[in-house]
Amino acid sequence: MRRPPTRKGKAMTSEKIKASTLVTITEDDPDDDTKGLRTKKLITTASYEKNQDNATTDQQCARCGKDVSNPAGWVHIVGGGVQVLHPDDEDKYEDMNPADLGFYPVGSDCAKHFKGFLQDC
Ligand SMILES: [Zn+2]
Repeated sequence: MRRPPTRKGKAMTSEKIKASTLVTITEDDPDDDTKGLRTKKLITTASYEKNQDNATTDQQCARCGKDVSNPAGWVHIVGGGVQVLHPDDEDKYEDMNPADLGFYPVGSDCAKHFKGFLQDC
């Protein structure tokens, strides 16, 4: 009798990834920390890095990297920086997860790209 192949779970990210490395991550699969949870892939704009370099405050939009003075909402970035967690699944998300990057503001221009995923903070 043949045994089904064993499937190993992917190793969890052991170190907290800095927000500045967000755009360099090309991982397509969500990490294990978002398994079974509703997430949306975080896609940053082509000018994200440039905008972040030119930013003058410490609060930049999660999608375009521009300064945000009046956020349209906030997104919870998980999966080591590649996923946005659905607000309804906040309760199910493990506290102190190493792949949790925390909350980032979203400017009004980019808000439409996070429909249903924006939260008030
Ligand atoms: Zn933006």
